[in-house]
Amino acid sequence: MIVCDFEGTIYNEAKLRRDFRRVFGSFDLDFETIFRKTAKHGHFCLEALNRTSLKKSQKARIIQECKKLIGNGSVYVFADAKQFLQKNLGKVSILSYGSSEFQKEKIVGSGIAKFIKQVEITQLHKRESKDLFLKADIYIDNDPTVLQEISQSFNKIKLYLIDRDNKCDVIPDNIIKVKDLAEVKNVESRRIKTKKQKDRSKI
Ligand SMILES: [Mg+2]
Repeated sequence: MIVCDFEGTIYNEAKLRRDFRRVFGSFDLDFETIFRKTAKHGHFCLEALNRTSLKKSQKARIIQECKKLIGNGSVYVFADAKQFLQKNLGKVSILSYGSSEFQKEKIVGSGIAKFIKQVEITQLHKRESKDLFLKADIYIDNDPTVLQEISQSFNKIKLYLIDRDNKCDVIPDNIIKVKDLAEVKNVESRRIKTKKQKDRSKI
């Protein structure tokens, strides 16, 4: 089974954040300031707005606008990710970190549910999702720290780092760095081909 992170790997969180900034801006509010005050572990969720002193009616309108964006969330799915999920139909499970209600809404709104096997949303370290990792052959994430933690707890899983902006230079040898999910397929098919060639040379 393939296990795949959601935000930044399948879902263009940066684009959603830009759109949220626009919505908050239309109410003369600065999303980033509110985000800094309310986000836990760097993750923003709409429930966090309840911790602000915004007026109830204003909060409701912002939430409505943001939910509209999330509801039409197919625009936030990276093209390579959609293709990857279609090609690996029913084989990919999603492991997402964050507030469960907010993450669920994003995943449902993104329209990828029909391609995937299962979704697990956690507010713990991802490595705690043991049941999922014990069944995994491949794990894909855009966060090198998470990948290193997984590699220490589960040494049989092939690990891929999605580095879309080519920001991560130093990564351990056991983590394969790729530009996007299309490259995961390429690396995998190359690996299979090499194995086939080796098998052939044995005969
Ligand atoms: Mg991520």
